[in-house]
Amino acid sequence: MDTMILATKNKGKIKEINRMLDHLEYKFISMEEAGIDLNVVEDGVTFEENAIKKAKEVMRVSGKVALSDDSGLEVDYLDKAPGVYSARFLGEETSYKVKNQHILEKLKGVPEKKRTARFVCVVAVAFPNGDILTSRGVIEGIIGHAQQGSNGFGYDPIFYVPKYRCTTADMPFELKDSISHRGQALKAMKQQIKGYMKK
Ligand code: IMP
Repeated sequence: MDTMILATKNKGKIKEINRMLDHLEYKFISMEEAGIDLNVVEDGVTFEENAIKKAKEVMRVSGKVALSDDSGLEVDYLDKAPGVYSARFLGEETSYKVKNQHILEKLKGVPEKKRTARFVCVVAVAFPNGDILTSRGVIEGIIGHAQQGSNGFGYDPIFYVPKYRCTTADMPFELKDSISHRGQALKAMKQQIKGYMKK
């Protein structure tokens, strides 16, 4: 069975990717397990650019198939910020409690219909022969009025999904996986990889 390296250091993402990409003919290992210590600078202006760059660099260093993702939160009222800068927004070391509070304050008094936002995720797979696959997933929601919920991570406590009447931090993991931006992008990638393997 071939090995695919997951080009992320985030343990939560590694678990999620393992859950979502089961039954593919690959053994998934993390960068840490592969002995790769690489810091890829995410200087692209789109999620696609960053995801492809990460996957390509890890593939180049390891010589193996590499999968990466790039994701973030787009808030329409803030001209789609923090977007590709989601992790670096207000500084990488700043807690999400503070980042989330900052967004809530920026949107204070803003009516419901102008609070629209979305999580976006792009997954890229780079093969040693130079082939690249990409997939994109999006989940639409609105920015809530307070931080709510204790599951999830990052911006989940302020991302309210009207259909479920809760934030993504209130959701059980199985529900979030099944509807999330990353869940959708991974599901689409699973199909693409299956098709690619048949070629
Ligand atoms: P990445 O590791 O460069 O993809 O960084 C993604 C950024 O977007 C991080 O700041 C995350 O907190 C945020 N983000 C991405 N997906 C989610 C999510 O599902 N929930 C909450 N925050 C997310």
